[in-house]
Amino acid sequence: MTFHSLGLAAELLKAVEQTGYTTPTPVQMQAIPAAIAGHDLLVSSHTGSGKTAAFTLPALHKIIDRRPAPGSGPRVLVLTPTRELALQVEKAVQTYGKALRWLNTACLVGGAPMFAQIKQLQRQCDVVVATPGRLLDHLNRRKVKLSDVEVLILDEADRMLDMGFAEDIDAIVAATSAKRQTLLFSATLDGVVGSMASRMTRNPQRIEIEVAQQDRGQIEQRLMFADDLGHKNRLLEALLGDDGMNQAVVFTATKRSADELSLSLQEKGIAAAALHGDMHQTQRNRTLDRLRQGRIGVLVATDVAARGIDVAGISHVINFDPPRQAEDYVHRIGRTGRAGRDGIAITLSGPRETGLIRAIERFTGDRLEVHTIPGMEPSPRKPAGPRPGGNGGRRFGSGGGYGRPGGEARRSAGGFSRDGHPSRSERSHGDRRSRG
Ligand code: AMP
Repeated sequence: MTFHSLGLAAELLKAVEQTGYTTPTPVQMQAIPAAIAGHDLLVSSHTGSGKTAAFTLPALHKIIDRRPAPGSGPRVLVLTPTRELALQVEKAVQTYGKALRWLNTACLVGGAPMFAQIKQLQRQCDVVVATPGRLLDHLNRRKVKLSDVEVLILDEADRMLDMGFAEDIDAIVAATSAKRQTLLFSATLDGVVGSMASRMTRNPQRIEIEVAQQDRGQIEQRLMFADDLGHKNRLLEALLGDDGMNQAVVFTATKRSADELSLSLQEKGIAAAALHGDMHQTQRNRTLDRLRQGRIGVLVATDVAARGIDVAGISHVINFDPPRQAEDYVHRIGRTGRAGRDGIAITLSGPRETGLIRAIERFTGDRLEVHTIPGMEPSPRKPAGPRPGGNGGRRFGSGGGYGRPGGEARRSAGGFSRDGHPSRSERSHGDRRSRG
C-alpha cells in the first residue's frame, strides 16, 4: 500500500514524499482513511508506530479546502500529556502542512510565558497543540475559543489520565462543539481511558495496532545488576565509554538525581545535560535542540520530561534507576530504536530493585537478558530472608549475580560487545530461577 491510496490531498502527499516515507505504517493505513471518512476513532498504538502522522494528515486534509471566517477559533485541537510531545506534534503539523502557506499553528504548553501565547492566539490559528492545564488557563481567561474545533485529537490519552488531567480534559471537551470529530490515541483503550472515550466519541471505530514482533526486536533489552550506587556509577561510565555508543538517554527516578548525575558526568568530561520538569521551557527546548544537533551525547532525564523525544541518533537508553511504573519502561526504551534504527536499552538494578524488574518483565512479557562487564560483575549475594511486599518473599541464593543466582549472565566485553551467544533455550531458562 502507498500513501496515494489513502485518499489524502495532493499537497499533503507531496509533503509526505519530501519526508522520504514511502509506505504508510499499519496505524496510518487504518486510521487515515477512517478519519477522512469522518469517523470518530479510538486507536491503540504505541510510541514509534507513526501515530503522529496518522492523526495529523487526516486532520489537515479536513481543513485544507475551506478558509475559516475571520475571527474564528482553531479548527484542529491536539491535546498531549507533555510539553515536549506538544512541540513535536506541532513540528509534525508544520512538516506535513508545509504546502499550506496560510497554515498557522500555536503550541500552548506550561512553563512558557503566557503573554507570547496570547499574542499567538490573537492571529488566526488553524491548529492548536496544547497540554491540558495551560489550554484550560487560556480558556478560563477567555483567550481562546474552542467552539470552531472540527477535529479534536487526544494523543497519549492514557498518559494524560495518569497525570491527573481528566477534569481539565472534560472542561476542554465541553467547550468544543458536539459536531466535532474526535480521534483518541492511547497505548491502551481499557479501563478509565475506555470510559473517557465513551463520554466523548460517537460511534467510534476502534483500531488496535499490535506491536509487531519485528518492530519490538529493534530494541535489545539488557539487565545489569549493581551492588550499590557507586557500582551503578562505574557501570554507567563504562557503558558510556563504549565505541558503539552514539547518544544516550539516561533515566533517573528524581529531578534532583538527574541534575546530580548530569553534573558528575560533565565533571568526567562527558557532554551530558539534564532534562526535567523543573527546568524552564526555553531551557528544555535548548537542551533538546542541542541533543538533536548531536552536541549533547548523554541526556539525563526524568520520565515525564523525556516522553515523546524523537531523536534518531539515540542509540542507547540506560535506566540508571528502573522505572517505578512498569509501563514507563516501554515509553523509556522507545526513545531509542527510532526511525527504523536499532537500539539498546540497559536497565541497572540495585539490590532493592529486583521487584521492579519482575514487574517490567511481567508487563512486557519479555525477559531482560542479564549482562555483565568483565571486572565489574556484581558480588554474589548472601541469602536474604523473605521481604514483605517487595519481591514476593523470593530468596536469593549465592551463585551468579543476585536476582538470577542460578544462571549465567552474558558478558559484555568492553561495554557492549559480547563474548559468546548462548542458545535461545539457555537464554530463556538458564538465567532465571524457577518461580515458587
Ligand atoms: P510516532 O509514532 O508518530 O512518534 O513516529 C515514530 C517515528 O516514525 C518518527 O520518527 C516518524 O518520523 C517516523 N515515521 C512516521 N511515519 C512513517 C512512515 N510511514 N515510514 C517511516 N517512518 C515513519
